[in-house]
Amino acid sequence: MSKKTLSQKVLGISPSATEETSFLANQLKRKGIDVISFAQGEPDFDTPDNIKGAAIKAIRDGFTRYTDVPGIPELKQAVSEKLKRENGVEYEPEDIVISNGGKQALYEAFVTICEHGDQVLIPTPCYVSYAEQIKLTGADPVFFDTSEDNNFRPTFSEIKANLSSNVKAVIISSPNNPAGSVFQEEELLQTAEYLADRDIYMITDEVYEHLIYDGNRHISVASLGKKIKEKSITINSLSKTYAMTGWRVGYAAGPREIIDGMKNLQGHVSGNINSVAQKAAIEALNGQQESLKVMQKAYTERREYMVERLNSIRGLHCKAPDGAFYTFPNVSGLYGKSYDGKTIKDDMDVAKFFLEKAHVAVVPGKAFMYPGHVRFVFARSMEEIREGLERVESAVKTL
Ligand code: PMP
Repeated sequence: MSKKTLSQKVLGISPSATEETSFLANQLKRKGIDVISFAQGEPDFDTPDNIKGAAIKAIRDGFTRYTDVPGIPELKQAVSEKLKRENGVEYEPEDIVISNGGKQALYEAFVTICEHGDQVLIPTPCYVSYAEQIKLTGADPVFFDTSEDNNFRPTFSEIKANLSSNVKAVIISSPNNPAGSVFQEEELLQTAEYLADRDIYMITDEVYEHLIYDGNRHISVASLGKKIKEKSITINSLSKTYAMTGWRVGYAAGPREIIDGMKNLQGHVSGNINSVAQKAAIEALNGQQESLKVMQKAYTERREYMVERLNSIRGLHCKAPDGAFYTFPNVSGLYGKSYDGKTIKDDMDVAKFFLEKAHVAVVPGKAFMYPGHVRFVFARSMEEIREGLERVESAVKTL
């Protein structure tokens, strides 16, 4: 009998539902069609110059060798100070591991705490990688829908109602991708106390902490009390805050035993992250924060414009996101409408319609386990946003 090529683990991972849209968008681009993409979840800004300068200096100084696996001491120190200064939570540098983006930190956390048969509870809509990473550990992702009427904010009663004795951890992702929802203070405190009392871990994804609007406030779960901190694994990244998606700098902070497990794992999988990026990250955290303010201001203006504009298009309605740089309009008002002999039946069809008829790329809600919506990124120039939404509006008018 011949051996199978692919492992069950890899066969169990779903291909991203975004692939089809990207594939079609690239096909159009290759034909020379100017596609405006609101699909890729990253800042349009370039990494600030002071951060680039620190990296250039690191290369010139020959800082090009292996480093300590969990990160150089100065960077772990900078992260420790940042967590105290911005998040009101104290972690020793030994309680921190620097990883290749928040993504690797998340994966290492899941591998470190999850066993076969464990469940991890995830509020939806959710970031695309959680479920697939969890499945790779042998544990099972379990989902529940947040409510659109509540602006996709998870609540204590929803979480409580969806717990079972197999739940090892709950994902707290605030602000969230794709809906931007921010877990509200009272709900978060109640949830965190309840979970900590039952020895359930909280994987708290805080990568959008600095992109927050309308008086919403980011709260680091681990800052809510000693017992809660012992059950929290804080995940963060420089990708979104400092427009550093390509540099791959993220980190986790948490209980020493778990962080030691993650370091051990990282030592055998990837080793340290890029040495030059570590020097750049120190500058990002300790250097001037003016560039961040410029980006925050731009996102605030673009968010306002995009939400208003989307709501003026027939068949779409859109809540103003609490945070991050995404809008997640409901597109079910377009279902049943036809073009070129095709009928729009779901959010995948809406995304296809926008691409074919408006040359605008968005990601269907199905990718985030929440059909009926599509995700637009507003980390794009005002010109692109204006032009893209004009195209969408004109296309919708032809339906
Ligand atoms: N968490 C969330 C919610 C995200 O949206 C992303 C990136 N899109 C990440 C984690 C990972 O980002 P990175 O690996 O670039 O830090």
